[in-house]
Amino acid sequence: MRVDGNVAGDDGNGRNGSGDSEISAAWARVKRRLRAELGEDVYASWFARLELEAVDGGTARLTVPTRFLKSWIESHYLDRVLTTFRAEVEAIARIEVGVRGTGAPTRPVTAPGASRPSPTSGPLARLQASPQPTPVAVAAVPEARPAEGGDLNGTPLDARLTFASFVVGRSNALAHAAAERVARHEGEGALYNPLYLHAGVGLGKTHLLHGIGHAARESGRRVIYLTADRFMYGFVNALKTQNALAYKERLRGIDLLILDDVQFIQGKSIQAEFGHTINALIDAGRQVVVASDRPPTELEALDERVRSRLAGGLVVEIGTLDEALRVSILTARLQAVRTAHPTFEVSPTVAAYVARAITANGRDLEGAVNRLLAHATLTGTAVTMETAETAIRDLVKNREPKRIKIEDIQKLVASRYNVSRSDILSERRTAAVVKPRQIAMYLSKVLTLRSLPEIGRRFGGRDHTTVLHAVRKIEKQIGEDAVLGDEVELLKRMLQD
Ligand code: ADP
Ligand code: MG
Repeated sequence: MRVDGNVAGDDGNGRNGSGDSEISAAWARVKRRLRAELGEDVYASWFARLELEAVDGGTARLTVPTRFLKSWIESHYLDRVLTTFRAEVEAIARIEVGVRGTGAPTRPVTAPGASRPSPTSGPLARLQASPQPTPVAVAAVPEARPAEGGDLNGTPLDARLTFASFVVGRSNALAHAAAERVARHEGEGALYNPLYLHAGVGLGKTHLLHGIGHAARESGRRVIYLTADRFMYGFVNALKTQNALAYKERLRGIDLLILDDVQFIQGKSIQAEFGHTINALIDAGRQVVVASDRPPTELEALDERVRSRLAGGLVVEIGTLDEALRVSILTARLQAVRTAHPTFEVSPTVAAYVARAITANGRDLEGAVNRLLAHATLTGTAVTMETAETAIRDLVKNREPKRIKIEDIQKLVASRYNVSRSDILSERRTAAVVKPRQIAMYLSKVLTLRSLPEIGRRFGGRDHTTVLHAVRKIEKQIGEDAVLGDEVELLKRMLQD
């Protein structure tokens, strides 16, 4: 690895003193952090073969073996890698991802302005110059890695995520019932096909999918569970190694295909293959189960026909966890932990406090249990209310914001102002309709991650400049009119609760 410029340990003459090993150590920590933060699965799919080649001034040059990996990391994880790297080495200002050779000579492409191309580097992306990620050009991916072709064993199922460990409550009862029926279905054909589960992060989608997988396998069915990442990765590799046919054959030879996080499916050819695969399976009477963070209609990256196919079975949303459900999940978790740590005790009062404080999702509840356990084992003391409060403080602060839907904003604002939602979407321009419409647009901008054009589309196909105008106007009025300010604040709280 080369280390140039004034990053850690450089002696100022362009030679690297201790810089090289310091950077290497920092890079090892970056990878460990990515692994811890993103999970084993994501890490293994995308980062295991990411290597640091050099640090030039503020630019960290990373390499991966394939163009597909490069493109995927660039379009999904570049900020993440940069932030993580920068947390270790402050001077890193830029990340570049290149494709490294596989022994065969690589095309000698030098990034413009790169004064000292490394002999081992492939084409280095100038991310600053071209923020657009390279499109996933499946046919052109040069390096074949037969070992990975048609990786169909997918992601292994997590033994802990079973129906038995899934706590049923109001918000997930329907999803759970549908999952159980699909998993235990015997006989010809499929039930609801596909079964489509959607919910915000940490509300139990993956847990239910694994539960389905376990149960179906127990009854002897051939099951494949794949995250979207895996699906795409497997497909691209299969196409590269000309194994696509075999891959499809294998996919179609199963009884149950479970696909997690399909919102990540992207890229034209992958999308098409995804559509073909789903269609072929469903047409053959095989069960397909899919989970996503949004309803099928909002999978903007997917073709309309694929979306409607996904919507054509049973679509079930899992709602947010109410307090009773949070208490049950937490209690169950604590109990599970106690089998390994018999002395670990958390009183019902503390459990109730934690369940009340952590409202966001199951993942944070799990995090809370881990914190409490760490606290108890490290200090050797019982968990009191105070220690619990300290242990989970950051979880309470950093909890993930609830996913708010534009439709819910429109409904709430409409009812608050005594107009109908269709008034809000309509062309009408009377004051009684214009004001709530603008407030709803404003709230959509500040409470969701949707873009202005997207918001415009959801408001009866309006132009993004109209949305922008509304947002600015309401912002200004809130500043001038305290009553309106309170009103909007109240609406915000109601939507966030
Ligand atoms: P998602 O896939 O929707 O983001 P997960 O299924 O990964 O969420 O759930 C996050 C965590 O919360 C997991 O540890 C999961 O076991 C737990 N969890 C969520 N809902 C429940 C539930 N109803 N019962 C038990 N555990 C749950
Ligand atoms: Mg999940």
